[in-house]
Amino acid sequence: MEVRPENYDIIILGAGINGCGIAAELSRRNQRVLILERSAIGSGTSSKSSRLIHGGLRYLETAKFGLVREALHDRQELLKLYPGLVQIKPFYLPVYKSSPRPAWMIGLGLKLYDLLSGKYSEFKSQRIHRDEFSSFAASLLQDGLKATFRYFDGKTDDLELTRTVAGEAHKSGCVIHEHIKITAITNQTTAYQVATNRGIFTSPALINATGPWIDEVNQRYGFPTNYHIRKISGIHIVIDGLLTPDLMFMQTGNKRIFFIIPEPEYKRTIIGTTEREETALCDEVTYDDADIEYLLENINKYLTTDHQLTVNDVKDVWIGIRPLIAHKDNPTDLSREYALDLQRNGNTQLLHVFGGKLTTFLSLARKVADLLKM
Ligand SMILES: Cc1cc2nc3c(=O)[nH]c(=O)nc-3n(C[C@H](O)[C@H](O)[C@H](O)COP(=O)(O)OP(=O)(O)OC[C@H]3O[C@@H](n4cnc5c(N)ncnc54)[C@H](O)[C@@H]3O)c2cc1C
Repeated sequence: MEVRPENYDIIILGAGINGCGIAAELSRRNQRVLILERSAIGSGTSSKSSRLIHGGLRYLETAKFGLVREALHDRQELLKLYPGLVQIKPFYLPVYKSSPRPAWMIGLGLKLYDLLSGKYSEFKSQRIHRDEFSSFAASLLQDGLKATFRYFDGKTDDLELTRTVAGEAHKSGCVIHEHIKITAITNQTTAYQVATNRGIFTSPALINATGPWIDEVNQRYGFPTNYHIRKISGIHIVIDGLLTPDLMFMQTGNKRIFFIIPEPEYKRTIIGTTEREETALCDEVTYDDADIEYLLENINKYLTTDHQLTVNDVKDVWIGIRPLIAHKDNPTDLSREYALDLQRNGNTQLLHVFGGKLTTFLSLARKVADLLKM
């Protein structure tokens, strides 16, 4: 018996925060949307992040003002939309004698961050007194401390946020198939046809929202594209208990940064992250002892003797891959911003989502819907 295809207005590959965010936006605009996810909702990068809903203070250093402003705007909207899931928290940024950036530069950067928050900046950054910091950050060294700043940013549970957005899409009529196996995707000039182990699906528009897998998917199905990604992995380690009561933004000697992220609800602390370029296929990317050592070595430089951490304190580790965009004509110019690459062919539209932080999924989804004129 011939299998009858199911028809949709749009098919989205990938149920990470971006695929789910786009699905929710398009479903609200009365489009018939199908998401095909090869694993579980949020199982990719969207559950391996630092869980921060932030403008990205460090992107100011590379003058990514547009990215920071948009993310700060989205942060504000997410705080309002998901009050139980996204919360504003104080972050502390201690500057030591050995810190690669001087205190005046950090202070200036934070003022700019406040400014870019615009009318949303109800929480201004400030320099705090040494005694105030030492009263609650007992695990951190006070020797060599030159200044401490407090600023505010958002914290979430990335997987829960992704599942919630997927739930909203579903409520608005979106169909989501998890753990599906795609066997072929063909462009039939009036529609894409996606053959799977659960039937055949067609739609005139296809969105590739497969995060770091995007190049592998494009290669497998021969999709045309203007961009490629460079894969930069990052690990987080988890230790029992609260190392500090609040979030800390720390600097390494070589100008990298890492966060100490206490999660009182789980009585644990997350520390991350690392950055390493990966050339292996996404599914083969793993962490090694050197990644864990890197984080331990850097955090121990700031911890008092009583609080030094060893590998035995590490209770869990996870690794995620950031898809940084490289234009095919200039592959060394990497960007943390996102790019929407629309390929039109006859009556069909293929849209690739390159990059896109957890924080910016709302504006990304709206831009996708506008671009597709839906
Ligand atoms: C270490 C690290 C820390 C980060 N910290 C932050 C942070 O604090 N704040 C922030 O805003 N952002 C952060 N990010 C960025 C953010 O996590 C990602 O940009 C975001 O989660 C990407 O979402 P996505 O939906 O594009 O991709 P993903 O979440 O990876 O989703 C892609 C989905 O596609 C599926 N898929 C793959 N191949 C196929 C296929 N052939 N068919 C069907 N489905 C397929 C995958 O299973 C996956 O579920 C961080 C990233 C990393 C790596």
